[in-house]
Amino acid sequence: MQRLVINASEIVVVPDPGRPRVGKEMRDLGIIRDGHIIVEGERIVEVGPGFERGDEVIDARGKTVLPGFVDPHTHLIFAGTREDEMMMRLDGLTYMEILKRGGGILRTVRATREASKEELEEQARRRLDTMLLHGTTTAEAKSGYGLDYETERKMLEVINGMKHPVDLVPTFLGAHALPPGRDGDEFIDEMIDVMSRVRHLAKFADIFCERGVFTPEQSRRYLMAAREMGLVPKIHADEIADIGCSAVAVDVGAISADHMVRTCDRSIKALADAGIVAVFLPGTPYVLFHTEFPRARKFIEMRAPVAIATDLNPNCFTENMQMIISLAVTRMRMHVDEAITAATLNAAYALGLGDRGSIQEGKLADIIVLNAPNRLHLGYHFGVNLVDTVIKRGRVVVKGQRHVA
Ligand SMILES: [Zn+2]
Repeated sequence: MQRLVINASEIVVVPDPGRPRVGKEMRDLGIIRDGHIIVEGERIVEVGPGFERGDEVIDARGKTVLPGFVDPHTHLIFAGTREDEMMMRLDGLTYMEILKRGGGILRTVRATREASKEELEEQARRRLDTMLLHGTTTAEAKSGYGLDYETERKMLEVINGMKHPVDLVPTFLGAHALPPGRDGDEFIDEMIDVMSRVRHLAKFADIFCERGVFTPEQSRRYLMAAREMGLVPKIHADEIADIGCSAVAVDVGAISADHMVRTCDRSIKALADAGIVAVFLPGTPYVLFHTEFPRARKFIEMRAPVAIATDLNPNCFTENMQMIISLAVTRMRMHVDEAITAATLNAAYALGLGDRGSIQEGKLADIIVLNAPNRLHLGYHFGVNLVDTVIKRGRVVVKGQRHVA
C-alpha cells in the first residue's frame, strides 16, 4: 500500500486515553520533536521520532503538525446574512428589539424556508471550503432554521447529501426557537412529531434551553423522546442564565452541553461527574460585545471535560477554529495546549467519535501542517491562517493554503 510520510519539527499527538482529557491532562500533548508520521490508506500506522522515507513525503521540517480540528457545534446550513444587525447592536438596540423588527433568528428562518436545496448546498459548500482551508476536518451541522417539517427535513437532507472532504455529523434542532404566537408545549409536541419523521437523517437531537425560549421541563420531554428514537441528546444551555438546563443534560444522558457562560459551580460539578462535555462557543459573546465568557478555568479545575467550537451561524459568522483557539486563550485564559485538546480530541468526543482528534496509530489520518515552528503560535500569531497543508483521511486536500482535491 502507498505510504505517505510526514516529517516535522513538532508533532502534537494529543494522546487518546479512550475518553476526553480532563484537568491537568489537557496540557499533556505528547509532543514529539523531529519526528515522523506514516499513513497507509486513510489511517495512521506509525508515529515516532526521526525522519523517514516514503512514496510520498511531506517535508514539514521547521513546521508544526497537529490533528485536524473538529468543530463540534455549527449551524452550517442557513440562507442570508445579518451583517446590519451587528451595527444595530452597536447603536444600542437589544437582541429583542431587533427580533421585534423582524430580524434575528426569525429572519434566517424566513430566508432558509424560501431557499432551494441547491442554494443551501452551494452556500454551505463555500463555508466548508473555508473551514477546510483553516484546518477543520470534521464538523457537526445542525438543522433548526426551519421550525417546520419541510425545512427541517430539507436542511438535514443537505447535510447528509453533502460531498466534501470535511466529514459532517448531522443534528436535528427543531426546537431552536419558538415561532411568534405559538404555545411552547404545543410546539414541542409538534417538533417531537417532526423528529420522528426525520430521525433517520440525524445522529443527535438538540434544543435551545433558555429563559424565554424552552424551559427545562420542555427540554427534558423533547430530549427523552429523542433518546427513545435512538438519537443522542445535546443541549444549548446556560447562555444567558443558569435555569437548570445542565440538570436536564444529566437526566437525559446528553453527550454535550453547549454555551455554558453562566453555569454555576454546582452545575459544573454535576456535568463533571456525568462526564458530559461542555462545549464553549466564545465567538458568540465576542460578536455580542459581551465581556462575560465561559469560566473555562473553573471547568478544568473541576475536571469537567471541555471542548470549543465556532457556533458558525449568521450571528456569529466564522468558520475558523484558529480564531476560537485565540479567543479561548485571550478571553477564557485557557493555556494553548488546553485549547488544542479542546479543539481536537475532546471535540471529537463531544461528537461521540473515538476514531479521530489524535495523531496516534490506528486513528484516521486527519492531519494539519502549520506554517509555524511550534504550536504556541496558535492564539499568539492571530487573525491570520497558519494552516498550510491539510490531510483528510490520508489524502492531501489543501497544500500551500490552496485546495488541491
Ligand atoms: Zn448554537
